Amino acid sequence: MSDDDAPLGDIFRRLIRNTGPISLAQFMGESNARYYSGKDPLGATGDFVTAPEISQMFGELIGLWCADIWIRAGREEPVHYVELGPGRGTLAKDALRAAARYGFEPRVHFVETSGALKDIQLETIPEAIWHDDLSSVPVEGPILLVANEFLDALPVRQLVRGAEGWRERMVALDGEDFVFVAGSQPMEGAVPADWREAQQGTILETSPAASSVVYEVAGRLADQRGAALFIDYGPPETRAGSTLQAVANHQKVDPFAAPGRADLTAHVDFATLARVAVSREAKHLGTVTQGEWLRALGIETRAEALIKRAPHLREEIGLARDRLIADDQMGLLFKVMGLASADWPDGVGFGEN
Ligand code: SAH
Repeated sequence: MSDDDAPLGDIFRRLIRNTGPISLAQFMGESNARYYSGKDPLGATGDFVTAPEISQMFGELIGLWCADIWIRAGREEPVHYVELGPGRGTLAKDALRAAARYGFEPRVHFVETSGALKDIQLETIPEAIWHDDLSSVPVEGPILLVANEFLDALPVRQLVRGAEGWRERMVALDGEDFVFVAGSQPMEGAVPADWREAQQGTILETSPAASSVVYEVAGRLADQRGAALFIDYGPPETRAGSTLQAVANHQKVDPFAAPGRADLTAHVDFATLARVAVSREAKHLGTVTQGEWLRALGIETRAEALIKRAPHLREEIGLARDRLIADDQMGLLFKVMGLASADWPDGVGFGEN
């Protein structure tokens, strides 16, 4: 059996026995690479449902947001629509259809590593160009970049305050089971000054991978102009504690139970990411709740228009709208972070318009 076929849990066990505990970031990164490479996890028959799969309104409003800011910035061409982790391509399809009515007909670039999802995206948006990462996306002309539930799938690192000070949380073995242990090297230097004396057991979770994506996107916005929307779940402020979770079959499962067979995610620390973007000369348009943002973009009016066209779907459309914006559903937990070039206008929905 080659490593590609062996259960990832067995590969991790062998690695840990041979070389010692591995970092949580390695465990999560390799688990998700394996998880996404072979299957389409989205939708009722998959493991989880995302906003664009709930209703076409989500992608449409994102498309209109992109068209609006691009038009007000002067309609520069060539213009690129870039999506990170586009899933089934549903968001892009809805966004591009809505935006085309306003003359926004960009070149489409998908950053996607999963072969299984690329096949589906190819059916949805055959004209797209695929990239393994942002580095090969053209540098000429503004980009309108969208990433929905992408950052939460990137690996996190956790530091924990133990009896002897701060250490990285590592993954080790207890018999056949994966368990957390504290790493051997002191990590005081990696902890902000006001966290150093935190009480024992405090966990500081960071995502160097998410920071690095936002750093690169912000650099692109500064150099070639454009705007970006990052949509994900996360708290309004940086918080202590682990938010690592695993989902399979619409149920929360133990992240250590079957690596590579559940979606591992962590909450996105938007406050840190906004600072990263600003450090690279991008403008932080704001970070607001998904409910607030979609209402500002007119989701209620859009829902009414859809109901008028298809009255027999009144209940279904109303339920989908509520799922996206209600406080006790996705409305409050999910946030939308907007970024733009310093000399671009402010985008709709972030408070100033
Ligand atoms: N945006 C889609 C899918 C979200 S699932 C939606 O809202 O429905 C996460 C997506 O990110 C998948 O397309 C997955 O294959 C992709 N992905 C995860 N890790 C990635 C990585 N490191 N590089 C590129 N794509 C990645």
